[in-house]
Amino acid sequence: MKYTNKKRFFHLTIYLFLFCFLLQPFPSTAKVTQPKFTFSDQVVKVGVFDSAGFWNVNGGYVSGGYAYDYLKAISNYTGWKYEFVTTTLSDAITMLESGKLDLVLGLQQTDQRLETFSFPTNNIGTEFGVVVTKPNNLKLAYNDINALNGTKIGCLKGNIYSYKHFPDYCKEKKIDCDLIEYNTESEMFKALNTGKVDAILTNDISNFADNRIIVKFHAAPIYCATTKGNSYVIEGVDFALDNLQLDNPAFGAETYAKYYNKQNSELSLTRDELNYLSSANTPIKVALLENRAPYSTHNQEEEFYGIIPDVFKEIEKLTNLSFTFVPVKTNSQAIRMLRDGTIDIIPDYWSVLPVDGKTDASLTSPYLKYDLVSIFHQDNTKFYKNKKRTLGISMSISDTKEYFEENPMLNYSVYETDEDCVDAMIRGDVDGIVCNYYFAQQILSQTQYAKYKFTNFNFSDDYIHQKSMCVSSESGPELFTIINKAIRSIKINSLSKIVSANSILQAPEFSFTRWMQNNLFFILIFLCIIVAILICFLSYASTSKKKYSKMLNTDSLTNGLSLNRFLTIATKQNQGYFQYELVKTNIIHFRFINDLYGKEVGDSVLRLFHDLLHTNLTYDECVARQEADHFLVLKKKNTNSDKILLQIFHTISDEVYRIYGINLKINGGGYLLKKGESITSAIEKTSHVLADLGEEQSGIIQLYDERREKIVNALSLIETDMESAFTDHQFVPYFQPKYNINTNSIIGAEALVRWKHPVHGLIPPMDFLPYLENSGAIINLDFYMLEESCKFMRKHKDATGDWITLSSNFSTKHFVHDNFCSRVIAIADRYQIPHEYIELEVTETMSMADTDIVKTLFRQLHENKFLISIDDFGSGYSSLGILESFDIDILKLDRSFMQTNMQTKNINMIRGITEIAANNGMKMICEGVETKEQVEILKSTKCHVVQGYYYSKPLSESDFILLLMKK
Ligand code: C2E
Ligand code: CA
Ligand code: CA
Repeated sequence: MKYTNKKRFFHLTIYLFLFCFLLQPFPSTAKVTQPKFTFSDQVVKVGVFDSAGFWNVNGGYVSGGYAYDYLKAISNYTGWKYEFVTTTLSDAITMLESGKLDLVLGLQQTDQRLETFSFPTNNIGTEFGVVVTKPNNLKLAYNDINALNGTKIGCLKGNIYSYKHFPDYCKEKKIDCDLIEYNTESEMFKALNTGKVDAILTNDISNFADNRIIVKFHAAPIYCATTKGNSYVIEGVDFALDNLQLDNPAFGAETYAKYYNKQNSELSLTRDELNYLSSANTPIKVALLENRAPYSTHNQEEEFYGIIPDVFKEIEKLTNLSFTFVPVKTNSQAIRMLRDGTIDIIPDYWSVLPVDGKTDASLTSPYLKYDLVSIFHQDNTKFYKNKKRTLGISMSISDTKEYFEENPMLNYSVYETDEDCVDAMIRGDVDGIVCNYYFAQQILSQTQYAKYKFTNFNFSDDYIHQKSMCVSSESGPELFTIINKAIRSIKINSLSKIVSANSILQAPEFSFTRWMQNNLFFILIFLCIIVAILICFLSYASTSKKKYSKMLNTDSLTNGLSLNRFLTIATKQNQGYFQYELVKTNIIHFRFINDLYGKEVGDSVLRLFHDLLHTNLTYDECVARQEADHFLVLKKKNTNSDKILLQIFHTISDEVYRIYGINLKINGGGYLLKKGESITSAIEKTSHVLADLGEEQSGIIQLYDERREKIVNALSLIETDMESAFTDHQFVPYFQPKYNINTNSIIGAEALVRWKHPVHGLIPPMDFLPYLENSGAIINLDFYMLEESCKFMRKHKDATGDWITLSSNFSTKHFVHDNFCSRVIAIADRYQIPHEYIELEVTETMSMADTDIVKTLFRQLHENKFLISIDDFGSGYSSLGILESFDIDILKLDRSFMQTNMQTKNINMIRGITEIAANNGMKMICEGVETKEQVEILKSTKCHVVQGYYYSKPLSESDFILLLMKK
């Protein structure tokens, strides 16, 4: 809360008391009858001499000064214009005598001068002689007359004090000192400053600045002297000064204050006072009221601030005394402390009464004055004039009692403090209170006092409420006289700065308790809101934290462990005592469950799968879904552990069949964990096992075989042999015939590559194809195999006259080459094979990689009449959806659909797929048919073409020819 209210500035009722007025020349008795004066435009010549403050000269022009202001005031009444003649004081007097000047200001009357010059009746102030010395010259003290003996004293030539008053004074006091005359004031001061003289003689109407007065003597009025008999100037001056006296009686005092109040900052101290100051080494104890803003306030740092502490800072500067403040609650307490010697000064003391009339303390001149206001309840103010009222006053202003005693309509009650008065008013003990304006403002700015109002409380005009300092007599009379002199020496400007800084610019002390009381209701509401927000926030934070940690730790589908959580737990378990096996499960043909039964059923099956696995594990084992239909199981390893897991797979299958009628086939890839081994790399190994396992077999847990891995790695070494494999025709086609299930006749064959390795013998394609895939050599191999097929077809046609349909396998790698179709055409045409006898087998997994490219390729092949079949359908990633989006001729159902023990329920899925294929105009072929049972089952479906060991293994060319010939 900052007070910026300007109004306050005007209303502020603390005024300065200007004691320097006491030092002012008093105008002579004013004449009531105005003399007549006739104006003329004569220019009045005025002598100007070197005397700072009396004549202020700037760049050769008179710009101000005590004398100048008087001349200006005079011209206001006379209309005079002045001509200023700059000279020295003594020359000015000579020039006046000879009539070269009309006026010289600041001259005292002497008998001799009265003969030479004419003087007006009115003076322009009073002056007295002073002898001043440098403040640090401790040989000279105030009124220590004898010390002046033998000193050199500078003085101004022509000054009446120099040639008359001071010699008279010395004669009278029997002082023998050496007077040295100077022509100008500046020269004189220079002599003092350079130590050529011990002191200088001047008068109080002069600017002796920071020097210390040691003698004051002979006060006398000063005048505007003019040439002898110059009645025009005499009359003009008197006319003007008479009127000035009537218009502004304080003109002299104001002008003195304007030019000389800055001086006298050095106290004129007596020998005893100087001795007191040099021996005073303990701080003077000052009692200060704790809570008397703006005069004194005790803040939380246990320091005092306010007008009075600031006044003491000024006193400190003037006297070099140090002060310490002792907090008191009331002035009565302070008086007790003064009596028992605990404190030396009570500065906040009303000026009128001495301490109970006793002589143990003295009261200084007043140093502050302030007006008082009264606070009333609003209703009371109306009746104020007509009804007798009782007002509360605090001890600090109880000197106002006199006023109440004189006023028949007012009563008073004295309370200890202003606050006590306020309490009495609230209780209704008094009708109002009287206090200083500052306190009234503080009170009325608080909301609970809104119903109160302050009124101007004007005491009678001659009544001024003043503050003085009460100084204990204990420590000798010097402390009192020094404090008193210091108070009177404080510059008016400093005092007014102190007052305004503490009462206008300074905000009243902020009281937290009071603020709380004022705003209790809002504070409570605010607190409630904060608490509510806090509760909401905390509950939100805890739920979102829970949600977040749940999200991190649980699998959204199964509500079981997330993969991350599984990894953490498994890693921890694997560091313990037991050995664990990691098993990754695979639900065979799971994607068709989604396609055939819907995603919801698929999800339910996965949840059931998880829950049953979970409930059948022990507490130190765990399960989590890795992705899609793959689960990871951490199982303690013992001789039975795989059997137990397989038993759990059975239970799951039975339960899923019981609920959904779906025959679930599960297998797993296992890996025996080494202690502390990374779980992530173990998962990779189980994935390899599962991939190797394919989907042909179910109900098994295949353990990761390191021996096999070594062989595979070893085979990679033969990569280098591959180049010669092509050139040496080590790659040979084997042919596996395809049969019509109903007629048992061969309707075609699939060409499958074999590597006749000169060292390793016949290597199956799965052991070397991955390396060809990697190197890109698979492209050449596929075209090589297509060419071998075409060669065979050509031979067969030429030998039998019949075409045989042969299929070749093509890697996905072909699809990125635009010339694929043209190369196929080129090969076919090289052997003049009608395109419709050439079937291209494309693996399901790869064929769908880039839909647009694949579609374009299929279209080109179809335009050229080639047949397209999707190989290993059901083993890869795609679903039944591809049957609708791709233009396909033949669907090759993956051999994993063929089970060793096919039951009726097992063929539901095959039947579903064949139906859809047939509806889309595709032919079906079933691979991997190994048993009669399977053949019988297939006969009941729409799949009538078969391939598999039941009919024939892949055969060498010669064997295949033999077979064909048999038929
Ligand atoms: P695929 O295209 O699915 O070929 C059928 C595979 O199943 C052949 O394995 C065949 O020996 C085997 N098979 C046939 N009937 C049965 C059966 O009744 N039971 C079982 N368990 N398996 C049967 P093979 O010859 O080892 O070929 C493996 C794979 O190598 C092929 O699978 C094919 O994807 C790939 N492949 C073979 N030759 C080539 C080729 O020239 N080019 C490309 N890109 N891949 C080829
Ligand atoms: Ca194939
Ligand atoms: Ca196949």
